[in-house]
Amino acid sequence: IITVDRVTKNFTNPSGEQLPVLSDVCLELCEGEIVALLGKSGSGKSTLLRIIAGLTLPSAGSARIRQTEITEPNASTAMVFQTFALLPWLTVRQNVELGLRARGVSAWERGERVTDAIDMIGLDGFENAYPKELSGGMRQRVGFARALVVQPEVLLMDEPFSALDVLTAENLRGELMRLRAETAFPTKTMLMVTHNIEEAVQLADRILVLDNNPGRIKGEIQVRLPQPRDPRGAGFQALVD
Ligand code: ATP
Ligand code: MG
Repeated sequence: IITVDRVTKNFTNPSGEQLPVLSDVCLELCEGEIVALLGKSGSGKSTLLRIIAGLTLPSAGSARIRQTEITEPNASTAMVFQTFALLPWLTVRQNVELGLRARGVSAWERGERVTDAIDMIGLDGFENAYPKELSGGMRQRVGFARALVVQPEVLLMDEPFSALDVLTAENLRGELMRLRAETAFPTKTMLMVTHNIEEAVQLADRILVLDNNPGRIKGEIQVRLPQPRDPRGAGFQALVD
């Protein structure tokens, strides 16, 4: 569903030199798959996610969703950030609604969908709270609600649990996976940056490792067979089992 084709990204450092952060990165994200992206600090993980989210353009190469080149944020992908990235002057409800406003959804439909997302992620009763009144775990729930309210096909997560304590992280991870397992839940495909190898093994079908200097995919580990979504896949799975 997502193809990253020979993406290179350069940043200009303070002395004016071009520094490659990503170099010829290729990756394919298949429908229904959870992929974890591991790599040292500075290897370009966030940059790669931002390119796929349409928040940054590559210097060369392209990211595509199906056949369409990604050049700006679109309704098919949404992103969750490590430090939540909530707007402090907006309430929970208004923060969640931002995801839809940015995508031109009508006011009436926004209302319905925001309420649904808030209920789904366990934020009911907190609609009118401000981020500073919430714990880290609740703030990240807002982050998830804001991403999931657009019903993206692909969820991009940049260290979504790393700012949370172990138990809170475990809870939220579990809840995300429970939601994802529901048939009607539209967001099955996920790409998650993490420094937590245990978390990667627990959640991901596949782990990609990004190397530093400059960022390239160094290796890939298949953790498990992806859950087949269509009956032909299920037949194949039965053969393998
Ligand atoms: P971390 O694990 O610490 O989050 P990362 O793998 O996500 O690291 P990136 O945030 O993608 O790494 O950054 C990779 C490199 O690109 C870093 O050296 C960073 O300084 C540089 N960089 C990122 N964004 C910019 C920017 N907007 N302008 C200049 N340099 C940048
Ligand atoms: Mg990062």
